Amino acid sequence: MIELDSSYDCLVIGAGHHGMILSSYLARSGLKVALLERRLMYGGGLATSEVTQPGFYHNLHSINHFEISNAPWFKDLGLDRRVKYITPRYEFGQAHLDGTALVFSRDLEETVANMARFSRKDAETFRKWNARAEEMTAKILMRERFAEPMSQAEREGLLSRTEIGREFLEICQRQPLDLVEELFENEHIRLLFLFKVSLFGTWLTDTMSKTSPMGSVVRAFDLQSGYQLCEGGSFNLARGLMESFIAAGGTYVPQAAIERIVVEGGRATGVELSDGRTIRANQAVVSTLNVHQTFEQLVGREQLPTTFSSKLDKFNYTDWTLFGVHFALNETPRFTAASFDPNIERCQKWSLGAETMEDLVSAFEDVKANRPPRIIQFGSGALSMIDPTQAPPGKHTTYAWHVMPYDPDLSGRDHESWKAEFSDQIIETFRKYCPNMTKDNILATHTYTAKEYYQELPNMHRGDIFMGTFSSDQVMYNHFGYRSPIPNLYYAGSGSHPGGGVSGGSGYIAAGLIAKDLDIKPWWTPYDARASLESLAS
Ligand SMILES: Cc1cc2nc3c(=O)[nH]c(=O)nc-3n(C[C@H](O)[C@H](O)[C@H](O)COP(=O)(O)OP(=O)(O)OC[C@H]3O[C@@H](n4cnc5c(N)ncnc54)[C@H](O)[C@@H]3O)c2cc1C
Repeated sequence: MIELDSSYDCLVIGAGHHGMILSSYLARSGLKVALLERRLMYGGGLATSEVTQPGFYHNLHSINHFEISNAPWFKDLGLDRRVKYITPRYEFGQAHLDGTALVFSRDLEETVANMARFSRKDAETFRKWNARAEEMTAKILMRERFAEPMSQAEREGLLSRTEIGREFLEICQRQPLDLVEELFENEHIRLLFLFKVSLFGTWLTDTMSKTSPMGSVVRAFDLQSGYQLCEGGSFNLARGLMESFIAAGGTYVPQAAIERIVVEGGRATGVELSDGRTIRANQAVVSTLNVHQTFEQLVGREQLPTTFSSKLDKFNYTDWTLFGVHFALNETPRFTAASFDPNIERCQKWSLGAETMEDLVSAFEDVKANRPPRIIQFGSGALSMIDPTQAPPGKHTTYAWHVMPYDPDLSGRDHESWKAEFSDQIIETFRKYCPNMTKDNILATHTYTAKEYYQELPNMHRGDIFMGTFSSDQVMYNHFGYRSPIPNLYYAGSGSHPGGGVSGGSGYIAAGLIAKDLDIKPWWTPYDARASLESLAS
């Protein structure tokens, strides 16, 4: 291990994007910061590697990054000088076995025209909802995403002062499934909206039939904010963040085997490593791991008040994971449906395999019953078409993510042979939509399941990519919280608002709170949810 000083101002645990964002803000505030990571490689869920053949860059974890280049931390940390994000014109596409395809563009008129080929009525309904949704996203959702949540009473009080706020609150009460079924008559349109609202690549069993105070359902209807691709692969965001941290004078500590967070005199004072060394933190210890790793394993229940322990007991993880297949290709997937709409071949996110609402629900039921879904349906995307640097010149990459239980009942089959067979089933389904997904065209594949990513990232509890469900009792004013009952100990991981996924939110928000607690005048202007909601009335 690298040589370390015996004390720092702040120790940050976990060099995923949350840890790196937080560390950069603190280091740029003049604090002496060490960022401790279990693995050799930093980045966590921002991983890109040549797992199939040289020159094919596969993003093994996150691929679709929501509106990153407009995130406050991306701007504050000057990341546009180090990292490039591509905003594709065609964000979502769904091909159908009848040879048609539905494509959502960033352009309203184009999307409305595409929808009208399936249902004029639905297209007009969408147009009406879109205008309102764009405003809600810009004025409420994106502002709250990067600010410490207010109490329910205060938030609802402020929102109910204005028409847009009241409408937003009303939408928060709606279940995505019911709303989509009520608004739209066409099955294909309903399906693509559910795919869009489910965050990425798959639907979420936790949110599809429940309400969310976050109001994420609004995102089904806006077009202006959406998913982007990190040029060259997702790891480039991690690289940019690490460069920014190092440039600010921070110390990166890879292969840190942390035994425990040291609590002395009731305060967090450092961490103890497995080689017996203790590294001191004079001002703050911050964890970006999952909440149980942090408070059960590293702190210990005996140090925690019982009310906090029962909060830990109630904290839930998702019961679905992702089964991934990464492809190195000669040709990009060519769709039969391209003769209906050629832009299907340029979408960042494809929904393939679910042709009806029953198909979608069957996958939900299979996961709940702990068996591999019987109707193959997955998320994918035209990665190297949008970003040619992710493959050698003239070659291509794509992927398939399929929803899956963590440890499905395989009726005695061994895991490896089942993995190979399930990958083949995915390829077979892919070929129904893209006849060129043949053995000749597929140069190599790499199958990557929750077993692998949980081993690499033990914070992704039993394959939960979000490290906590987005259920209403765990989001917004019910989130886990950034401050802990132990002075100087903070939590800035995915269990806190705005939750999992690559948003950077909890690292960014925690930086503002820690600066405040340490009496440091922030060099940036932290987002303030109260001010944003108050300004709705002006
Ligand atoms: C297959 C897959 C696909 C995904 N797709 C998307 C997507 O398209 N879009 C999206 O937004 N999100 C996606 N995600 C989710 C996204 O990757 C995570 O939500 C995100 O990485 C969370 O960031 P984080 O910083 O909280 O945690 P992480 O990125 O997981 O970083 C945590 C870090 O802590 C380290 N660590 C763990 N234990 C210890 C320990 N004991 N001591 C020290 N360090 C430790 C880990 O090694 C890791 O580097 C996907 C995830 C997976 C697995």
